[in-house]
Amino acid sequence: MNRDILKDCKRVVIKIGTNSIMKSATEVDYHKIDRLSFVCSSLQQQGKEVVLVSSGAVGVGASTLNMEEYPSSVAEQQALASVGQSALMSLYSRFFQHYEQYVGQILMTTDIINYPNSYNNCNIAINSLLSKNIIPIINENDAVSVDESGHCTKFGENDTLAAVVAELVEADLLIIMSDVDGLYDSNPHTNPGASLISYVGEIDTDILSMAGGAGSVFSTGGMETKLKAAEKMMSIDKAMMITSAENPSIIFDILNGKEAGTLFRKNEAELQIQGDE
Ligand code: GLU
Repeated sequence: MNRDILKDCKRVVIKIGTNSIMKSATEVDYHKIDRLSFVCSSLQQQGKEVVLVSSGAVGVGASTLNMEEYPSSVAEQQALASVGQSALMSLYSRFFQHYEQYVGQILMTTDIINYPNSYNNCNIAINSLLSKNIIPIINENDAVSVDESGHCTKFGENDTLAAVVAELVEADLLIIMSDVDGLYDSNPHTNPGASLISYVGEIDTDILSMAGGAGSVFSTGGMETKLKAAEKMMSIDKAMMITSAENPSIIFDILNGKEAGTLFRKNEAELQIQGDE
């Protein structure tokens, strides 16, 4: 698959997971947040439009409050997310400012999918930030979203949220940064012979069987939710990448068409047929 097409991506949504911005359950990786802020700022200043979807409210909250264990009650979890989200944004604001880049926070619940007015308003808010050259930083509104029968406003994981955002803003590319560097044909944590799949043109049962269920990688969603996000992006003829968050500069390589991670995109022939229809 020729990756030159990625050089033309203008609007890019970048999603980073909690494990990637934390060194351990209670220790924030400041260096990673700095690098990510640098990469996003550079891209924005080169004329791309960047939207960052960052997890970490709960993790950074646990770190801020020196908690050894994750609380079990919903009220405590929400309080933790509330403390963590503001701490997380304060970190991002500081690091981005260093690179002369403003950021704005947007917190979402599934209301934006369920209510057209919310969807439109959210779209207006994100586009208004981007038109002012401000990078939106998005997370779930963990302090208020609920998962009750009859009333669920919770996404629960940010792979889905990132795909919803990417569709909403009509992004050319969604990059999911994770603790694995792409989709493997078997679990790379347990099988040293596992090989990285460079390109997926269709999510079929063979590909789904490689996901290994939720939690096969160390994140809330696991590979399954990432594949669902890829399916969503491909269904609207857009591209998605899964790549390692180890060194955020890899995003420069990806957008230069270099080989990295797993690219999900309908193959050219199929896109051509649809274009002709
Ligand atoms: N919204 C959650 C947080 O910020 C993370 C969800 C996820 O891990 O995908 O802690």
